[in-house]
Amino acid sequence: MRYQVRVIDVNNALQNYIWIIEDTETQEIAVVDPTEANLVVNYCDSNGLTLKQIWLTHWHKDHIGGVPELIAEKNIEVYGPREELSKIPFISCPLNHNDEFYFNDLKLDVIAVPGHTLGHIAIFADEIDSLFCGDTLFAMGCGRLFEGTAEQMYQSLNRLSALPPRTQVYCTHEYTLSNAQFALQVEPENKALQERFEQVQKLRDQNQITLPSTIEIELETNPFLRVNSAEEFKRIREMKDNF
Ligand SMILES: [Zn+2]
Repeated sequence: MRYQVRVIDVNNALQNYIWIIEDTETQEIAVVDPTEANLVVNYCDSNGLTLKQIWLTHWHKDHIGGVPELIAEKNIEVYGPREELSKIPFISCPLNHNDEFYFNDLKLDVIAVPGHTLGHIAIFADEIDSLFCGDTLFAMGCGRLFEGTAEQMYQSLNRLSALPPRTQVYCTHEYTLSNAQFALQVEPENKALQERFEQVQKLRDQNQITLPSTIEIELETNPFLRVNSAEEFKRIREMKDNF
């Protein structure tokens, strides 16, 4: 496949991942939510790649921290939510819900997912079955409600769970193990969840990444996608905040 998704493990306290989309024909990359510039620069240097685009999901520092340095000397397109322009002034290509844009000939669809922040967006690449969802959907979890309401987040998660089940879910943080512990408390009898918990525990014991997930796996094991109302969502989100 022409476009390949790679990862940089930031290895910080927040356990961020920086996702890289590589065009293997042109050796150009797009990078999602670059926490730190030097990690991306080193990655490009050691793999002979050129940074062409930056995609931002929301304004939090651990998602945009590397951008000013990355764009300082080069002409790099910065895509991000129009609604957060005041907080991310270096966005050069502001995006709204349902917008499309291209990385070379790879088409990207923009999905507004307010909740964690009000302008939060997710980016969906249909051709490579990939979703870059920032801090909205996590493996067996979801982002905290810093700005939006439970109702908004519930609707946002519904937008994501309606994507094709085979969609690979690339979230920003390695929160999988603690999310699994909470999920098991909500649904102790869920067989798929029990099995996933064991897999995840093995991976983390070896310090290995647990991502990407898929929409299908999340529908089976993520309690935040398995609720039937905004009220139910709110109740579980509050339980998780105090977990
Ligand atoms: Zn965030």
